[in-house]
Amino acid sequence: MAKRIFNFNAGPAALPLSVLEEIQAEFLDYKGCGMSITEVSHRSSWFDEVINDAVLRVKRLLNLGENYKVLFLHGGASLQFTMVPLNLIADDQVADYVNTGSWSVKAIKEAEIIGKKVRVVASSEDRDFNYIPKDIAFDADAAYVHITSNNTIRGTQWRSFPDTGGVPLVSDMSSDIMGRTFDVAPFGLIYAGAQKNLGPSGVTVAIIRQDMLERVPDNLPTMLKYTTYAAKNSMFNTPPCFAIYVLQLVMKWLEETIGGIANMEEINRKKAELLYNYLDESDFYRGTAEKEDRSIMNITFRLADESLEETFIAEALANGLGGLKGHRSVGGCRASIYNASSLEAVQALVSFMAEFERKHG
Ligand code: PMP
Repeated sequence: MAKRIFNFNAGPAALPLSVLEEIQAEFLDYKGCGMSITEVSHRSSWFDEVINDAVLRVKRLLNLGENYKVLFLHGGASLQFTMVPLNLIADDQVADYVNTGSWSVKAIKEAEIIGKKVRVVASSEDRDFNYIPKDIAFDADAAYVHITSNNTIRGTQWRSFPDTGGVPLVSDMSSDIMGRTFDVAPFGLIYAGAQKNLGPSGVTVAIIRQDMLERVPDNLPTMLKYTTYAAKNSMFNTPPCFAIYVLQLVMKWLEETIGGIANMEEINRKKAELLYNYLDESDFYRGTAEKEDRSIMNITFRLADESLEETFIAEALANGLGGLKGHRSVGGCRASIYNASSLEAVQALVSFMAEFERKHG
């Protein structure tokens, strides 16, 4: 038996154990074809079934209508910072961006690099990005409104999505897609690097509405156009086959073992509540995000005595709890409790935290 730890990594992150076991079991001989899924052609019927099933499951899980396409892209969520404005802002248009932390900052920067006009309509930078801006005035003529639904580094999350008055929402959902239910209708585009809630790194999911696809200009580089991927079922060139295969299995797990996103959300809320309740009652630890905006995926916290944090992280690892170091840009501690991290993992973390507090408090 492999010795496995409770994994609180921010991404790449924990995958469901049953999915890893399934991969292991069929790794050398995929469904009797005598080859690994990593060895077959992306034009083969074996891979066709994988990618079609992955698309179907994403559509079912998110309740997507016929007017949405599911695309599998390369380049991480970071390339979407460029592709979104390149494809969706016309020369005479401006796009609205809400700045809620480093990933929003990067999205804004990339749009500006390619000479697109963006307007930062709200920002939480004044308080170290520890909250989500409210009551934002959007421009009715904006090409779109861009938000980061969950801020992986600062531990904040949009509880509800802003009313943009009909302007299409575009969201970087890298760290909370499929973690809770939401109405997809106001979204023109959703994108997410897979390596948190969906699967391994190497594939990025984009969910794009038909009217957004219709905006894409012809004269863009082929590989940077959403329409290229939409026209070819994400297989204009060789897709990240293995990553898509693992994603398909994670989607199957989410549908068949968990029972869909509503069930997943209930488990996620229980996990987050357990940890937040503990943080709120303790004087030894403190959460860093405003209560009303805190994330159910990335729980960021500090120790009252910050000099103890290094010891905390090291002792946690020695006790089988990994990945608790905060992002290098902000320090502190962070427990990323994505879909695949279990209630049992969070219970183990809280017990360890209580024990650490007894010892050092
Ligand atoms: N957006 C968010 C919210 C993220 O958390 C991350 C990665 N941690 C990224 C974008 C960048 O993703 P990638 O590494 O896939 O480019």
